[in-house]
Amino acid sequence: MQTENRYYVNGAWVTPEEPNLHPVIDPSTEEVIARIHLSNEAETDQAVQAARAALPGWMYCDPAERVAFLERLLEIYQRRAAEMGQAMSAEMGTPITMSNMLQVGIGTRHIEGFIDAARAFAFEQVHHPDHPDNYIIKEAAGVAALITPWNLPMNQVTLKVGAAIAAGCTMVLKPSEESPLSALLFAEMMDEAGAPPGVFNLINGTGAVVGNCLSGHPDVDVISFTGSTRAGRQIMQNAAGTLKTVHLELGGKGANLVFADADAEAVERGVKRMMLLTGQMCNAPSRMIVEKGFYDEAVQIAAKVAQAVDVGPASAEGGHIGPVVNERQFNAIQTMIQRGIDDGARLVAGGPGRADGFNAGYYVRPTVFADVTPDMAIYREEIFGPVLTISSFEDESDAIAMANDTVYGLTNYVQTSDTDKRRRVARRLRSGMVDMNGANRAPGMPFGGMKQSGNAREGGAYGIEDFLEVKAVAGW
Ligand code: NAD
Repeated sequence: MQTENRYYVNGAWVTPEEPNLHPVIDPSTEEVIARIHLSNEAETDQAVQAARAALPGWMYCDPAERVAFLERLLEIYQRRAAEMGQAMSAEMGTPITMSNMLQVGIGTRHIEGFIDAARAFAFEQVHHPDHPDNYIIKEAAGVAALITPWNLPMNQVTLKVGAAIAAGCTMVLKPSEESPLSALLFAEMMDEAGAPPGVFNLINGTGAVVGNCLSGHPDVDVISFTGSTRAGRQIMQNAAGTLKTVHLELGGKGANLVFADADAEAVERGVKRMMLLTGQMCNAPSRMIVEKGFYDEAVQIAAKVAQAVDVGPASAEGGHIGPVVNERQFNAIQTMIQRGIDDGARLVAGGPGRADGFNAGYYVRPTVFADVTPDMAIYREEIFGPVLTISSFEDESDAIAMANDTVYGLTNYVQTSDTDKRRRVARRLRSGMVDMNGANRAPGMPFGGMKQSGNAREGGAYGIEDFLEVKAVAGW
């Protein structure tokens, strides 16, 4: 078993005299695969002080140096991709094929995206040709605290670290205590790429201790957080004391509006997208809402597709879905499935209990509920597991109202062959992202939400902006 009683501060690995060891459990087997040290406030403070001391050197260096650093990081990240895929698969349960492809690949794309965006970024420019002595300087926001969840470990780490590096911020990364192994490996890569001491620091620990210390710390200027709406609220409250800039990427309850002129493939795609990463995606299309004329057929297709989804261990190659991350999450999903049944929704695939064939591991049955109404908890609350709800709508305005009837606003989905309708609907949906007919957002398109899904915009130039302050200089 791996023991990782180390943290990374001021360009060096530190081993505490009395480690506070915490088990990392493989969700496929429920076995302890590693122990990590959970840091305390004093260690967190050391990391913040190191970042503070390194700030002037990093924020005032030539942006080209920061791009060169990201290029070195990209080379190392790609060279050690197999180790990274393995680490994420073991700590949070994504099957190894998907871990290598999606979990590792997404990090590559983000680092590449920041290299491109930083090369083209105007950190300084004349405000307007009519006023050549008015000058805009975009400079680093300062010391950044980066707090990340476990579901897409390298997605969130690279989105935050890559943007902060490009902007000239120095940083303390606190990954989720559920996915610390990939983050430790990432810190080794930052070290090998030659991050100047203090520019990047890694502290493992809990939200209650390290997260709380960072969000209230007087020497932290900006927080970039991805995780639950619950924690986002606490962070915003705690950061208010020192009026920090707070960027939040929170939960979601995405609607997938399927109009009657969409085809069977649109329904199939919606179910598969819901089951991706065992439903542990903040932007999952978790509420399929189908136009009345197509509803019965859509329910049948969805049930069949979900029944065909294979469930298996993270160590096995293949296109199956893995377990959910931990026992707490498994139990929370079971509670929600039972609430769906108790509230009178019609179960058409899956249901309560562990997936067939397993007597250990947090394997949830891919589940679909039909006839779900807006008053039901499974329609309103984020489940963060492989559970799809299906409801129906009457017409276009009903569809828009149902999609928007949620406290969340991350990604909504639209399926229709009518271009005008698609565009009308996209304009009316209150969400940071709208994905239509299976199209993907291109590199550099911003990722982020509205309402209680948060206020951040991550990736490419938008992501860099989140780590900058705008300075207006007259008389240049
Ligand atoms: P979580 O909020 O429990 O934890 C996320 C991170 O925050 C962890 O590092 C945790 O230690 C830390 N944390 C917890 N409480 C804290 C506090 N009071 N102060 C500071 N830090 C604290 O979330 P999770 O269970 O790890 O992740 C699942 C949630 O994340 C879901 O709600 C999901 O929708 C959301 N998520 C959102 C996005 C997005 O981009 N919008 C992406 C992925 C996940």
